[in-house]
Amino acid sequence: MIAQNIQSIHQRIKNACLEYNRNPNEIQLLLATKTVNYPQILAAAQAGELLWGENKVQEGTKKIPYLKHLNPQYHFIGHLQTNKIKEVLQWTTCIQSIDRVELAQKINLFLQKHTPAQPLPVLIQINTSHEPSKFGIHPTQALKLIQEVAQLNYLKINGLMTIGTLTHDTQSIRACFKLLKNIQLQAQQLTLPNNASFQTLSMGMSSDLEIAIQEGSTMLRIGSAIFGNR
Ligand SMILES: *Cc1c(COP(=O)(O)O)cnc(C)c1O
Repeated sequence: MIAQNIQSIHQRIKNACLEYNRNPNEIQLLLATKTVNYPQILAAAQAGELLWGENKVQEGTKKIPYLKHLNPQYHFIGHLQTNKIKEVLQWTTCIQSIDRVELAQKINLFLQKHTPAQPLPVLIQINTSHEPSKFGIHPTQALKLIQEVAQLNYLKINGLMTIGTLTHDTQSIRACFKLLKNIQLQAQQLTLPNNASFQTLSMGMSSDLEIAIQEGSTMLRIGSAIFGNR
């Protein structure tokens, strides 16, 4: 079941790439594993999928002892409170939800004290849907935040992340993804320290991955289309 669902997602990715002239090798598949139990995650791992995203710090902390032997890339994709930084850094390999400078500074300070071999990869989360209930930096503040985060030596910016607006109106969804792409192009014009790069555009979920691919996504975050409805 899980393996079949993964196969159909790869087929959807392939079809969209053909249609929109994208190279499938440039699109990573991240599995959103919130509420997904161990046997299901194991099935996904056995199908070769080892890039995962968790939204709740506590859930990742609970699962990691059972999962770490699989050696996953385990991203954090949810809202991060500063009092959970220490905990999330025990298991995450990338934080996709940097949306305020205080958060980035506190993560950097924690890392500085522990002098990691490598800086921590991060993405800047942007609220492209303008919905106040959504997390992410406001688009007009994004370049400023990017410049501030790029100064932090223990973080390495790898790109941008957004959640498309939850609607059936494809034009509104598309507008979110276009906005993220546009901010990427502007960010790439900046001269920044610490090897900041904007290669990764994390956008597209189960219902809107084709639009995201058309608009330049390089990382899809897929949950329900693989693991079923939550
Ligand atoms: C749950 C989640 C996803 C996956 O959503 P689906 O619609 O289930 O594919 C992607 N990104 C984030 C941040 C999520 O929380």
